[in-house]
Amino acid sequence: MGELFLPPELSCEIAEIYATMAESYDQVAKQISLTCQGCPDNCCDSYFQHYTYCEWAYLWEGIRKLDDDQLDHITAQAKAYVHESTDLISKQIRPQIPCPLLSEEGLCGLYAHRLMICRTHGVPATLTRPDGQHMRFPGCFRCQEIVKDRYAVEADAPAMERTILYQRLAQLESRFLGHKRHLYPRIKMTIAEMIVKGPPQDIKSCIKGQEDCL
Ligand code: SF4
Ligand code: SF4
Repeated sequence: MGELFLPPELSCEIAEIYATMAESYDQVAKQISLTCQGCPDNCCDSYFQHYTYCEWAYLWEGIRKLDDDQLDHITAQAKAYVHESTDLISKQIRPQIPCPLLSEEGLCGLYAHRLMICRTHGVPATLTRPDGQHMRFPGCFRCQEIVKDRYAVEADAPAMERTILYQRLAQLESRFLGHKRHLYPRIKMTIAEMIVKGPPQDIKSCIKGQEDCL
């Protein structure tokens, strides 16, 4: 009751934005010769937080396709993650805990529904913020090593341009929440929290206190 579902057209659009991100990532990774194969690290234990209701709802589109056993498993993993990360943060330690969707084989258990940061982290990237400030991200540690070896200056390395993709996602978020957008609290949640909380709820239910929205 009160669940915020992505309308089909927005669900298709977010899938398209995600596909463009993955394509753009692959192009840059290929140019740099970056691959995750054999990497001693696994970014799926990085402490990432996510900010949009549309991504949260799309993640739940994927979660709903899991069978009961899979759902029980990821829910248990997510609860343990939230418990452990809360404890670490209270001690001012940045958590490094495997994502609850990471399988024992080291693969993403919900690949088609993974979030934006899962699709962009790794390669160098550029971004122009709404205030006009240009930013450049160096990529993961392995990428930085390759760039250092192959390019005289870091700025010569190809980079994934994130601006348009972020703008498209922000526009989609506005359309998803519509004229009630200003009523929704800002979110900053890990995937584990998105799983434990359940799918996002319509603000009407939150205002009436029918649901624990955040
Ligand atoms: S993104 Fe970089 S650090 Fe993460 S697994 Fe891939 S190569 Fe390793
Ligand atoms: S959603 Fe998938 S890709 Fe993203 S951190 Fe979790 S396991 Fe890794």
